[in-house]
Amino acid sequence: MDAKEFRVRGKEMVDYIADYLENIRDRKVFPNKKPGFLKKQIPDSAPVEPQTWIEIFEDVETIIMPGVTHWQSPHMHAYFPALNSYPSILGEMLSDAINSLGFTWASSPACTELEMVVMNWLAKMIGLPEHFLHKTTGQTGGGVIQSTASEATLVCLLAGRTRALKHYRALYPEETNITNRLVAYCSDQAHSSVEKAALIGLVNIRFIESDDQLSMRGTALQEAITNDRKSGLLPFFVCATLGTTGACAFDNLEEVGEVCQKEKLWLHIDAAYAGSALICPEFRKWLKGVEYADSLAFNPSKWLMINFECTAMWVKDSIALHETFNVDPLYLQHEYSGLAIDFMHWQIPLSKKFRALKLWFVIRNYGISGLQKHIRHGVSLAKKIENFIRADPRFEIPAERHLGMVVFRLVGDNQITELLWKRLNSRRNIHLVPASIKGKYVIRFTVTSPRTTEEDIIRDWKEIDTVATDVLGELDETKKPKVPLGDTKTKNENFGTSLLLANSPMSPKIVNGSFAAIYDQKDVLEQFSRTIKLRQNAQDSPAMRRRIKGILMSGKQFSLDSRLDLFHGLEPPTNRYSMADEAPLLEDEENTSGHSDSSGGKLSPNHNGLLEVPYQRRHRSKSVDHHYTCGDNDTTTKTKICRKCGHDMD
Ligand code: PLP
Repeated sequence: MDAKEFRVRGKEMVDYIADYLENIRDRKVFPNKKPGFLKKQIPDSAPVEPQTWIEIFEDVETIIMPGVTHWQSPHMHAYFPALNSYPSILGEMLSDAINSLGFTWASSPACTELEMVVMNWLAKMIGLPEHFLHKTTGQTGGGVIQSTASEATLVCLLAGRTRALKHYRALYPEETNITNRLVAYCSDQAHSSVEKAALIGLVNIRFIESDDQLSMRGTALQEAITNDRKSGLLPFFVCATLGTTGACAFDNLEEVGEVCQKEKLWLHIDAAYAGSALICPEFRKWLKGVEYADSLAFNPSKWLMINFECTAMWVKDSIALHETFNVDPLYLQHEYSGLAIDFMHWQIPLSKKFRALKLWFVIRNYGISGLQKHIRHGVSLAKKIENFIRADPRFEIPAERHLGMVVFRLVGDNQITELLWKRLNSRRNIHLVPASIKGKYVIRFTVTSPRTTEEDIIRDWKEIDTVATDVLGELDETKKPKVPLGDTKTKNENFGTSLLLANSPMSPKIVNGSFAAIYDQKDVLEQFSRTIKLRQNAQDSPAMRRRIKGILMSGKQFSLDSRLDLFHGLEPPTNRYSMADEAPLLEDEENTSGHSDSSGGKLSPNHNGLLEVPYQRRHRSKSVDHHYTCGDNDTTTKTKICRKCGHDMD
């Protein structure tokens, strides 16, 4: 493509983008596709000969768009927002055209300096203390744009770890394994990225039980720290959340901050979603205590209409970042090294995109007042849907609504709400994701798009109302909540269990990352299982089965150590029936025709009240079941009569 054609195609693309966004409400928000749909339509290998732009672009509407979830749709209510806007798209275009990499000041001076300017703007817009600003003299604080909130948490955890290692090494000069004893804290409502950061950072993590407002409180944190110190662990890092993923709850920053100050812990604030709302002074009450924080991050790429990726992160003391990430090869040094900021020392990657441009464009084009209006509009629409839900006695709202997200459920068992959620998503008129809040299955409704109007909310409510009437009507008919097993399979295929935004407060998680890094996960599982001593009568006990069922069906994506945790109390598997081979095999289960269990094939609520597939049906044949209950360890023998007790397994 030459410049002449680019001018034509570029203008066509701008028109296509404007049409796409302006007419987005005509598209179904969620695609009706199954995994693998795209592969069938695209050749296996790249074309050898060049193709015309017309040929290429034709495929966008026919192949790509049918498989897109339309995040900018007014009926997109899943997750948190990931918005764009015209000035942001233009900023991205220009940044792509310039495509300079701002790892050092010299590698692109405007990239570094504009980033410092917009980060100071943003810090003032959300009311951060002065020590988070870039100042020419006298302080080490400042802001930097990271790719994601997950990355910001990791960066801060690693900086906190560096500081802690220095501190504890001075305190315990004889100790050779301080990292193994380090422990980080977050609430049981924190995002999974905090656990992931601990996993990568090779430190332990403890989940603090939140109070009935889903908030981490100072006393609970203090108690855990005191106990951990007594047992030889070394506390070093706390991640507080402003706006949790499950219910948009807020940790008590003031209380948590005081504990961190007293205990000399790095306090990071994850405000991924709610941070945008802080541009409105009326929402800044949750910032009380921010002066205790060492770092804070939020995603303008969520609610401030800045295209993904863009996470704003501030630190009080950038020296900790330098000490963590500083490598200074000769080829990256420049005339002003040490005099100007080189952002490569503030992040994990070397290179940095010119992301400040899109922030600069959006903030100037909307103005602070325009952005505040956008946030307030979203919150007012969330209140509207909340009012509809509250006025209907069939529903309940189990957690207070604070900003643009409402969590709701049908009164009654969890499976009724799960059924409602599945039906709503399968109709594709609105798109939602569920969450688990203290054992209650809820549906999250987030107002995301600036295109959502009051009429849209009325339409969305009618959709929820209609589907709820259908679901409850069906239940009335059968008297019993019944979900065909096929539906569960559909859930796994289409949505994946990871959609259930549940937390897993199994605390603490002991993360031995070097072990995980060296071995394949299957090897680790098998090897670990051999080390487990069988507890008398524990194998296959109802309690253990319930626990495993709950864990497997809670929808959380489990890290290695969580899965290892499943082994406790289980018989060490033989090669053939090792746990690694026994991941929930819903497909296989269909093939074992006639294989039934005491629940008659129905799904029943587990201890969390979540739908579950009976454990035996998911994992094992009848003979293996029998071996387990009878205590005969020889599960490899495929005889019909048990050699140990003579039981006929047919
Ligand atoms: N923290 C919280 C509270 C979140 O809600 C999310 C995602 O929604 C994240 C972190 C992860 O964000 P990212 O995708 O930017 O890593």
